[in-house]
Amino acid sequence: MKLHFLGTAAAEGWPGLFCRCEHCNKAKQLGGKNIRTRSSVLIDDTFKVDFPPDSYYHMLRDNIDMAAVEHLFITHTHTDHLHAADLEKRSPVCAAGIDKPLHIYGHDLALQSCLRELDLKTNRYELHLIHPFRTVQVDEETRVTPLLADHDKRQTCLLYFIEKRGKALLYGNDSGWFPQETWDWLEGKSFDAAILDCTKGPLTGRRNHMNIEAILEINIIFQDKQMLRDQGRIIATHFSHNCGMLHEDLEREFNPHGILVAFDGMIHHL
Ligand SMILES: [Zn+2]
Ligand SMILES: [Zn+2]
Ligand SMILES: [Zn+2]
Repeated sequence: MKLHFLGTAAAEGWPGLFCRCEHCNKAKQLGGKNIRTRSSVLIDDTFKVDFPPDSYYHMLRDNIDMAAVEHLFITHTHTDHLHAADLEKRSPVCAAGIDKPLHIYGHDLALQSCLRELDLKTNRYELHLIHPFRTVQVDEETRVTPLLADHDKRQTCLLYFIEKRGKALLYGNDSGWFPQETWDWLEGKSFDAAILDCTKGPLTGRRNHMNIEAILEINIIFQDKQMLRDQGRIIATHFSHNCGMLHEDLEREFNPHGILVAFDGMIHHL
């Protein structure tokens, strides 16, 4: 399984679109891995989690064939995760050379956001309503199970457990400390990578988003319960400028524990 991190920031991006704070100024000055766009991961070039407003830029920056994406899983409808208006650019008038529909999976609110923008009669899209803990057989070799997040009480924010050709990935953001139902479902499971929400960095609190402390604690739980397979790694992502840590600061914190710090454009193979 090839994981391609297209974006690794929280909602405002880092540097933030309108921000003049010292952390954003520093990121602008240093560039490189300190420049973070809104979060999304491309899996094996055909499978994607979330569609942020930076998707057009991701296509340009990493030379991505966005038309090759066949399955799009939406975690929730916050603007950094679903920019449905740009999905309309896959319509026949905007996109040539496409012979397959894009399958979009999400909860009620996510599908409603898509329906407002997309013309389903074009056969360019197929929407699939999914439910927490009900596994979806996406194609012959891929199974996806939506799990519950702790993120926004006003909608059913989802995480994903993705299994393909013997490999498994836990896509764990946006979320604070997992709800008990999710821990219960994960009991006895193992995986090759877990992508976790580190929005808060060194700040306190683990509701709605996680911080470094929560991720280190989860790392111990995963190891104690042998949930991380051989070579299995936690990968931290979705960083907010409010956490104030540049890429190398985050690596200094996480690398001694074997945890990877995602950056825009990073590719990791399972
Ligand atoms: Zn987010
Ligand atoms: Zn800032
Ligand atoms: Zn969110």
